Amino acid sequence: MNEKVNALWAAGEDVLHLGFGESRFPVHPALSARLRENVSQRSYLPALGIPELRETIANYYSGKLGLDFDSSQVIAGVGSKSLLYAMIQSIEGDLLLSQPSWVSYSSIATLTGRSVHRFKLNADQDYQINIESIDSVYHEAIAAGRNPKILIVNSPSNPIGNLSSEEELKSVAEWAKDKDIFILSDEIYSLITHDGFTHHTIAKYYPEKTIIFGGLSKHLSLGGWRFGMAILPKGEEGTSLIQSFQSIAGSVWSCVPAPIQYTAILAYSGNKELDGYINTCTKIHEIRTHYVYQTLMEMGLKSPRPTGAFYLYPSFKKWASKLGEMGITTCGDLSTYLLDYYSIATLPGNAFGDNPKNLCLRLSSSFLDMETDEQAQEILDAYHKENDPKIFMDKHHPRTSLFIEKMGKFIAELNG
Ligand code: PLP
Repeated sequence: MNEKVNALWAAGEDVLHLGFGESRFPVHPALSARLRENVSQRSYLPALGIPELRETIANYYSGKLGLDFDSSQVIAGVGSKSLLYAMIQSIEGDLLLSQPSWVSYSSIATLTGRSVHRFKLNADQDYQINIESIDSVYHEAIAAGRNPKILIVNSPSNPIGNLSSEEELKSVAEWAKDKDIFILSDEIYSLITHDGFTHHTIAKYYPEKTIIFGGLSKHLSLGGWRFGMAILPKGEEGTSLIQSFQSIAGSVWSCVPAPIQYTAILAYSGNKELDGYINTCTKIHEIRTHYVYQTLMEMGLKSPRPTGAFYLYPSFKKWASKLGEMGITTCGDLSTYLLDYYSIATLPGNAFGDNPKNLCLRLSSSFLDMETDEQAQEILDAYHKENDPKIFMDKHHPRTSLFIEKMGKFIAELNG
């Protein structure tokens, strides 16, 4: 979708881009300066990451997650995708995945020759994981001769934009422990939580077989720097996965680029200025996401309340019959219609493995009014000047307002 939108922009079309989950804030000046200082680092580095970086990350997440990690558990990768790939490749068995879930898990499963078994998350249960539903999918997979041994948990979630509760994580951990299943806990959005909501890691309840994934792409808007990290379990299980990772990384990408590794030490140092910046960017994501959420709810759409990250996952199912008359029967048709007739780019729910008939779309609030680096800087500057979120939105978000206006017209078309 992002490439499609770029092509449309290049052809002079004014598309409102809600189809790309990239955080767009500027690189923090302290990180740019540190990267410049390290530009001459040009040697191959250890495949697992340099010791000082692994130590810094272990301390950082010990503090953030309230667990006691040591540096031998931490590995660095080229974005968290490379780590997810290497871990899935290294662990025996098939995947249990929620429906919907982030697009790349199933494509990594395909690349590694694993089958995917999806358990449904239901809108009427606030998209919380239902143990009976995982359990029955697990037994169906076994009955079909498969070997489900890896469960992916993603909180805060893409595409839902919500956090799993502590009770939910606890019960999933107990279930997985009972079945001796590995949990891959994708916590890339863990530092982007909305006011009043706290991120919890499932590793707290099942440290023996949980791998935590994170990186700099989201909370520091450094997607293109490609820095990811994983924290593996202590003990034999973790050690053997680290050896496997070392051989995959050593054979395929060698190491995370040297200047990035040295700069990442600062990103995970607990530096107050950087932590303040992360909080500011998170607050802005929250204001922008909630603004869109609120206005869409007022138009009659249904979407889970966002509590983390910067996504909305509204359903248009209540207009299914009107949409059917318009020739729109799947979320893919809906997304195409919005792009063709309203110049609004979204991702259809089926890209996340959802049932196309649920008529869900994933909207990312991170791009609008921050399309260029200059606009992103202006949004940051405006936030520092405007205390009132409403004034901040009304005065500095013309494209978000245009999106709301166009959605209003579309909903009127559906109601009319
Ligand atoms: N995990 C989730 C849930 C994501 O949404 C994304 C990016 O969109 C990633 C992982 C990828 O992160 P990285 O840039 O570290 O590879």
